[in-house]
Amino acid sequence: MEKFKLVPKDRINKLPKTAGVYCFWVQNEIIYIGKAINIKERVKNHFFQPTYKDNLYIQKVEKIGFIETGSEIGALVLEAKLIKQYQPKFNAVWRDDKNYFYVAIAEGKNRIPYVSITHQPNKLNVKGQRSNVVYIGPFVEGNSLKKTLKILRKVFPFYTSAKHPDKKCTWCHLNLCPGPNPDLQEYKKNMKKLALILRGKRKTVLYSLKKEMQTLSKEHKFEDALILRDKIQALEQVMSHANVIRQENTNLATVKQGLFLLKSWEKTEKLLQGILHYKNPISKTECYDISNIQGTQAVGSMVVFVNGKPDKSQYKKFRIRMENKPNDIAMLGEVLARRLAHPEWGYPEIMLIDGGIAQLNVGIKSKNKSLENITAAKFSREVKNIKIISIAKGKEELLIEGSPKIPLKNLPQEIYNLIVHLDDEAHRFAISYHKLLRSKNVMGRNA
Ligand SMILES: [Zn+2]
Repeated sequence: MEKFKLVPKDRINKLPKTAGVYCFWVQNEIIYIGKAINIKERVKNHFFQPTYKDNLYIQKVEKIGFIETGSEIGALVLEAKLIKQYQPKFNAVWRDDKNYFYVAIAEGKNRIPYVSITHQPNKLNVKGQRSNVVYIGPFVEGNSLKKTLKILRKVFPFYTSAKHPDKKCTWCHLNLCPGPNPDLQEYKKNMKKLALILRGKRKTVLYSLKKEMQTLSKEHKFEDALILRDKIQALEQVMSHANVIRQENTNLATVKQGLFLLKSWEKTEKLLQGILHYKNPISKTECYDISNIQGTQAVGSMVVFVNGKPDKSQYKKFRIRMENKPNDIAMLGEVLARRLAHPEWGYPEIMLIDGGIAQLNVGIKSKNKSLENITAAKFSREVKNIKIISIAKGKEELLIEGSPKIPLKNLPQEIYNLIVHLDDEAHRFAISYHKLLRSKNVMGRNA
C-alpha cells in the first residue's frame, strides 16, 4: 500500500519536482487528491494561482502529502486508485460520477474481451441484466487516460469493439490489435495484465511476465521468450518515462500521417494480392541483393518496405561467410537462411529476390528448410505464408512462387513502381556498404 509522505503547508519547497500524486490534509482527513508531472510546481499553483475551486478549501489546508511515481502513467493510475479509496470531499464537489472516466473491459462476441472508456460504470444493459464487465477507475482526465490506453495498447494489443472484422483492420496493421484470429488464451491473459496495470499493480505484472519468460527459456522456447522480453522492456520504459503522455501528443501527428499513407497503400496492396494470389494482408516486403564487386568481400543486403515505404531502421547487411569463391546462388541461400533464423525481426509477407528461376528456387528452398528449425507455431505459420518472388531483369519478368511468371510490362503501374523501387533500394544499399568496407580496408592499411 502506497503511503503519502507529509510536509507542512509552509514547506512547499520541500516537495519533489518529479511526477506523482499529491493530496491536501485538513485535520487528518484527505480533502483533495491530484496528480502532476512536477508535484512541486503543481501544488504551488493551487496556492499561489488559486482557481475558483481551489478557493473553496485551500486556506484550510494544513499539510500536503505526496507519493512519487516516476512516470505520468504511474501517477494517472495511482490517482484513480487513491480517489476511489479515500473519496476526498473536494474531488467530488464539482464532479458527480458522470464526470469521471472508467475503463470498461467487456465481453464481446464469443466472450472475447474488448476495451472501452465510459462515464457510467455498472450500467445495466438493454435487457436489464448486468453484463459481464470489469470497470477500472475513476480517472479524472479523459485525454490522459485515452493516451495512456494507446501507449499500453502497443504492449498489450486489444480490441475496441465487440466484433472484429474477418480481415485485418487498420489497428492490426499498426500492431495495436490482436488480429482476426488471436491466440485467445494468450489474449485473455494479456487483458488481465492490462487491467492489473490500470489498477496500479505494475510490479505484479512485471514479476509475472519475467517468470513466464524464464519458464519459456527453460523449455527452450526462445522465440516466445524473446517476444516477452520485448514486452517487459516496453512496459518498463513507458512506466519509468516521466513525460510519455506528453510525447504521445507529438507522436499523434506521425500516426495521422501513417494512416494517410496506409490509405494509399491499400490500393497497391489489393493489386498485389490479386497478382500474387495472396489472400492475407500485405504490409511488409523485403528485398535481397547479393553483390560481389571485384576486389571486395561479397555482401548480401536486405531492404525492408512497410506499406510501400522504405523503413531504413530495419535494413540489414550480411557479410558472406562461405569460403572458396561461392557462386551467387549459394550466397543467396546463405543470406536467406540467416535471415529466416531471426523471428524477432518480424517476418515479411513478401520476399523479393534479384534474379531468375534459380534464385526463385533457392528462395523457396531456404524458406522450407528454415521451417525445420522453427518451433513456435506462430512463427512457422508466418514463414509458411511468405511469398517468394523474383525479378529477372534480363528477361524483364516477374517470377512468382506457385504462379505463372508475368512480363514486367504487363504489371499495373503501382506494382511495377514498387518492385523497381525495392530492387533499386537493395542495390543502392549494397553499394553503400561496399564503399564503407573499402574505406575501412584503406584505413586499416594506413594504420
Ligand atoms: Zn484489428
